[in-house]
Amino acid sequence: MYDNFKEFLTKEIQDIRDAGLYKEERIIVSPQGAEITLESGQKVLNFCANNYLGLSNHPELVKAAKEGLDHHGYGMSSVRFICGTTDLHKKLEQKIAEFFGTEDTILYAAAFDANGGVFEPLLTEQDAIISDALNHASIIDGVRLCKAQRFRYKSADMEDLKEQLKAAKDARFKVIVTDSVFSMDGHVPDVKRIVELANQYGAMVMLDESHSAGVVGKTGRGATELYDVRGQVELITGTLGKSFGGAIGGFTTGKKEIIEMLRQRSRPYLFSNSLPPMVVNAGIRMFEMMTETNELQDKLHQNTDYFLSKMTDAGFDIRPTQSAICAVMLYDAKLSQDMAAKLLDEGIYVIGFYYPVVAKGLARIRVQLSAAHTREHLDKTIAAFIKVGKELKVIK
Ligand SMILES: *Cc1c(COP(=O)(O)O)cnc(C)c1O
Repeated sequence: MYDNFKEFLTKEIQDIRDAGLYKEERIIVSPQGAEITLESGQKVLNFCANNYLGLSNHPELVKAAKEGLDHHGYGMSSVRFICGTTDLHKKLEQKIAEFFGTEDTILYAAAFDANGGVFEPLLTEQDAIISDALNHASIIDGVRLCKAQRFRYKSADMEDLKEQLKAAKDARFKVIVTDSVFSMDGHVPDVKRIVELANQYGAMVMLDESHSAGVVGKTGRGATELYDVRGQVELITGTLGKSFGGAIGGFTTGKKEIIEMLRQRSRPYLFSNSLPPMVVNAGIRMFEMMTETNELQDKLHQNTDYFLSKMTDAGFDIRPTQSAICAVMLYDAKLSQDMAAKLLDEGIYVIGFYYPVVAKGLARIRVQLSAAHTREHLDKTIAAFIKVGKELKVIK
C-alpha cells in the first residue's frame, strides 16, 4: 500500500520544489542570539529571529530555568487538571494577567493551541466571529473548529469591519479577532477604533499579541498600551516563544469567567501536557524583569528607530511599521532571494519573502530588530544593505 502513497508524496514534494516553495532549514550550532554560528562555521548577525528583547539566551532566564529544574524537576507527566498544576504555573498565570492588565490567564503548550482552543468552547452557531483577513494560521484553524458564523474583513480596514459587524448583527454574541502586529509588514491595526466599533455594535474583542507583546507600546504591554485601551478588550492571546524568552508556551488572558470556562472546556488545555517547570520558572523571572526595568524595551525602540531612519535615508523603500519588524520592499521575488543570499555572504542573516507568503509582486526582505543588537551590529547591517542594494540596483 505504501508504494502508491510514496509515489504520490514524492510527486507532490517535487511540485513544491518546482514551484520554488520548498522550505530549507538552516542549521545553527550556537545558542540563539544577535550573533549566531551556522553549521558551516560561518558566524552571522541574526536579523530574522523573534528574539525582540534579546532574552532567548539571557543569563537571568537560563539561571531561573535551572532553578525551576532543580526545585520542581524536569517534566509534569500530566495535563493541568489531573496533576500537572504547580505553584509555578499559577504564579506565571498571575504574572501574565498583571502584565496585560487582565483578570486571569490560562497557559497552553503554545499560542497555536491557545488560538486553536479559544473559540469552540465559547461560541456556537448562534454566534459570530468577525476576523481580519490576514490573521495568523492558528486563529484561522481555531475559527474552523468552531460552529460560529464567520465574517471576514479586509485587513486592518475599519470601514469593512463596520460592514461586517452590520452583516453579523443578528448573532447572539459577536467577537472581533485580530493580530496586534501583522508579521509581514509590522503594522498595528487601529485597536482604538476596533474597541469603539465593538462597543457600538455590541461585540467583544480578541487580540493576538504574539508579535506585539514586549515590543509595542512604551513598556511593551502591546497594542492595548499603544492605543490606550488597557482593560477594554475581553481576550488576549500570546506566546512565550517570541519576545518573552523564546522557549515555548502560549496563553489566553482576559475576563475571568472566560478563562474559567476555557479551563473546563478548551481541548488543547484539557488533553495536552502541562508546560515544564523550567520554562514556567523562567517565564516568571522574565515578567519580573519586565516590571523592574524598561531597559530592554527602550533599547529595542532605539534600535528600531535608528535602523528605520538610516535605511530610509539610504533610499530603501520601507513599509510603515509600529513594531520591530521592518519590511524592505523589493517587489520582485528573485531579487528578494538574491539580495538575502548576498547579505548572508556579508554575514547578515535575513530572509526574503515572496508569494504566496506575501501578495504577488510584493516581495521583500523582513528585518527583525532586537534589544540584543549593538550599535555596531546595526551599522554593519546597514552598510551591508547599502553595498548589496547598490550592486543590485535597489538603491542609487
Ligand atoms: C508566532 C505566532 C503564533 C504561534 O505562537 P506559538 O507559541 O509558537 O505557537 C500565534 N499567533 C501569532 C500572531 C504569531 O505571530
